[in-house]
This record gives sequence, C-alpha cells and structure tokens, in this order.
Amino acid sequence: MSMSEIRQDKTTGQWVIFATHRGERPHQFRQETEEEDKVPQQDPKCPFCAGNESMLPHIILEMPDKTGIGWQTRVVPNKFPALTPEGDTTRTSDGIYLGMPGYGRHEVIIESPYHNSQIATMDVDGVCTIIETYHRRFTELMETHENMMIIMFRNHGAHAGASLIHPHSQIIVTGMVPNYIRWREQEAQRYFDLWGRCVYCDIMEFEMQDRRRVVFENPSFLAVVPYAAEVPFEVWILPKQHQASFGQISDREKLDLA
Ligand SMILES: [Zn+2]
Ligand SMILES: [Zn+2]
Repeated sequence: MSMSEIRQDKTTGQWVIFATHRGERPHQFRQETEEEDKVPQQDPKCPFCAGNESMLPHIILEMPDKTGIGWQTRVVPNKFPALTPEGDTTRTSDGIYLGMPGYGRHEVIIESPYHNSQIATMDVDGVCTIIETYHRRFTELMETHENMMIIMFRNHGAHAGASLIHPHSQIIVTGMVPNYIRWREQEAQRYFDLWGRCVYCDIMEFEMQDRRRVVFENPSFLAVVPYAAEVPFEVWILPKQHQASFGQISDREKLDLA
C-alpha cells in the first residue's frame, strides 16, 4: 500500500493530503445522470454487497439487522485510503516547507447489504443502526486515537465525489484539524469570550422562536437552514442538548437523529 503524505500550505496554514493512488479507484457512476430505478439490489462486482466479502480487506465491525440473522452495517478499511495506520505525525521539513506522513485511518461504513438501498427511504430502525454504528466506531477510535480528530462524512451521488453506488459513509482519523473546523472552533471561543454564551445555543434559541428557516424539529434536534447558507439546500441538524462531543450522544438522541 503506497503511503500518502500531508503537506502544509504556508499561506493558509491548511494541511493538504496527497494520496495520488486514490486516482486508481474504480468509478461506478458512468452516466451523467444516475438512473436510480435501474440500479440492481445486488451487484456481483460490488465489494460492499452481501456475499462479496472476499473482495473486502477485512471486516472491522458488523452490526446485525432487525431479524438478528443477517447484518445491516459493516465497517471496513478503505481499499484506497487517503491515510494509513502506519507511521506517526512527526513533522518533516523540505526547505521552508512542513510535511508529515499520511498517518491516520480511513474507513468505510457500509450502510446496508442492499446495493440499491437509500438512507432517505430506509425505516427509522435502519437509520438508527447506522447512527449506532457511527457511535460505536467513534468511541472505539477515540480510545486508541484520543488526541486526533475523527470526521464522519457521507458523499451522496457522483457530483458529491462518491465513486461507488452502494450506500456508504466514511470515517477519517487525522492528526490535523481542517481550517473550516478550526475557524468555527475559534469563532465559538471568541463569541464565548465576548458574550459568555455558546453561539450554537444562541442560534438555536433564535431560530426556534423565529421559525422562518426551521425545516424540522423533534425533542432532541432542530433542523434549520443557516441564515448565511453557503450552498443551496444547506441544512444544519443542531442537537438541543449542549454537548462538546458526538461521543456523548444518548440512545434517545440516536433515535431522534434517525
Ligand atoms: Zn453493492
Ligand atoms: Zn451550546
């Protein structure tokens, strides 16, 4: 497995992952528009489909389905990882520049055994199992990588960068904090210094009263279009309970998030 490298842009402080081998990964989205009604339930060439386990490096975690007979979710290593578990975060210098090995983890959460399943049309139990999988893996990774950053994300469709049709999310564990997260954290700290309050709690309180941008609300979460949305259809799902970490999510909140 070829190692990737992380380099710092001296003008922004941003760390950039160089993983050239990721260009070799297969792309299943060939058509310009996805023809969703033609996607089969099983694809013999898809490594994430049930029965194709021999195409997976190995299975890190598996969660049972409702019946308890089969599986619903699996966590597996990314076959074309942006970051690898070998090495550490020791910085190297190259003239005036700083770099470090592409140390970290890059895993895939397979959300369903079915190739054509969609998170939007799954039942609540199914979505809850996905969130339970996120939480389980987050907690395990925090134990072994406590001073690193864990990011969970999901690309939907070819235009968002997904290369495989089978429903999946990804986990990245890394020794650097991306600027878009760093800015938010610094801004929240500055806001707290200024007003002595949490900026997210203040936004939520205002939006719950104002209601012009509220999309959905339940006892644990508020879904809202941000006042200064950066992209069309941007929605924030804000937990009503003020907590610092996703690791603290309760069973009730998992169900409400689903
Ligand atoms: Zn599949
Ligand atoms: Zn808060």
